[in-house]
Amino acid sequence: MFRNFKMVSKVVFGRGCFDQLDEILSTQRADDDSIMIFLVDDVFDGKALIEKIPARGKDLIIPTNVDLEPKTGYIDELSDKIKDYMASFSGSLPPDSMPPDSMPPDFMPSGVIGIGGGSVMDIAKAVSLMLSNKGKAHEYQGWDLINNPAVWHMGVPTLSGTGSEVSRTTVLTGPEKKLGINSDYTVFDQILLDPELIADVPADQHFYTGMDCYIHCVESLTGSYLNAFSQSYGEKSLELCRDVFLKKPQDSDDKLMMASYFGGMSIAYSQVGICHALSYGLSFARGIHHGVGNCLAFDSLDEYYTEGVIEFREMMKKNKIQLPKDQVENFSDEEMETMTNVALVLEPLWENALGKDWKEIMTREKIKQLYSRMSE
Ligand code: NAD
Ligand code: ZN
Repeated sequence: MFRNFKMVSKVVFGRGCFDQLDEILSTQRADDDSIMIFLVDDVFDGKALIEKIPARGKDLIIPTNVDLEPKTGYIDELSDKIKDYMASFSGSLPPDSMPPDSMPPDFMPSGVIGIGGGSVMDIAKAVSLMLSNKGKAHEYQGWDLINNPAVWHMGVPTLSGTGSEVSRTTVLTGPEKKLGINSDYTVFDQILLDPELIADVPADQHFYTGMDCYIHCVESLTGSYLNAFSQSYGEKSLELCRDVFLKKPQDSDDKLMMASYFGGMSIAYSQVGICHALSYGLSFARGIHHGVGNCLAFDSLDEYYTEGVIEFREMMKKNKIQLPKDQVENFSDEEMETMTNVALVLEPLWENALGKDWKEIMTREKIKQLYSRMSE
C-alpha cells in the first residue's frame, strides 16, 4: 500500500514576506469579529517582531515558552486557555469535540498561528488539533488517532532545521513517552518562510537545529525506506546543508530555510533512523533539546553512518562547536532503562535504519552501549 500523504496547502517564501501576514490571514477571517490566536516564542517578548504581528480586534497573542520542549500538559493548558477566551465572548464553553466547520463560529478561533522554532510550531499544530478533539493531548500520541480536522493553522519558522513546517507530526513529551501526534490533520494549512526571521538566532542554536536537518537527510538517504521521492528531496537538502555549514555563503539563511523544508519532505516519505531514536530517549530522560541530543548521539554513531559522521565533525570544526558532553555523562541504571524503552517504541525508525530484522541486531544491551559511548 502506498502512502497518500497530505502536504502543506500553501507556502509563501521570500525575504520580508512576513509583511504579507495580515493579507494572508484576512482570507481566513469570516468577518470583523473572527479571532486569530498567535502563539509566539517568548524569546521575542519586547522585540520588534511582536510589533509587526498583525493582530486585530479580539485576536490573542500568547507568549509561548519553550525552555522545555513541548509537553502534552502544556498543550492541554494552552487549549483550555483558548477555549476559556472564546467562551468569554460566547458565554459558554464549546461542545466537547466537533469538527471546526460544524462548530458554531463563536466557539472557534478562525486560526492558530505558531511563530517560533520547531517547538512553537509543534505547539501550534497540537493546540489546533486539541481545540476540535476531546480529551487530553497525550491520548493522541501515536499514528492516526485524531478524529476531527484541526482548526486552520499556520506555521512561521524563526529557526530552521526541524522540518516541522512541512511534517505531519507534532512531537510531544507525555507522561509515558516522547512521541508525535502523527496525522493528516496535523499538517499546516499555510506556512510562511521568511529568511529574515532567522537572522538573529544564536550561533550554537543555529548549528544544532541546522544539524537536525543534516541528520534527517543522512538517515533518510541511508535508510531501507528510501525511494526516488525521498532521495530527490534528501539530496538537495544535503547539498544545501553542505553549502551553509561548510562554505557559509551570503544567502545562508535562505538556503537553510529551504534545506529544512526539503529535509522535512524527504523524511515525510521515508523515515529517520538510529540517531533520532536515541535522541528521543535523551530528551525524555534528561530534557536534552532535540538538536543538541541529535548531535550528541550522531557523534557516537560512526559504526552506522560513517561518512555522515566524518562530515558532521568537519562542520563542527568549521563552525567552532564544542558538544556539551557533560549532558550525557553518568547515566544511572534507571535512566538507561528509561531511554532504552523510549527509543525502542520508535519501531519504524529502527526498521528504516537496519531493515526488517532489526530486532536481532539492536538488542537492549547494544542500545545501552551506544548511550554509554556518547560521553567519550
Ligand atoms: P526550539 O523551537 O526548541 O527553540 C530553541 C531555542 O531557540 C529556544 O530557546 C527558542 O526560544 C530560541 N529561538 C527560536 N527562534 C529564535 C530566533 N529567531 N532568535 C533567537 N532565538 C530563537 O528549537 P528547534 O530546534 O527549532 O525545535 C526543536 C523542537 O522541534 C523539538 O521539540 C523537537 O522535538 C521538534 N521537532 C519536530 C519535528 C516535527 O516534524 N514536528 C521534527 C524535528 C524536531
Ligand atoms: Zn529531527
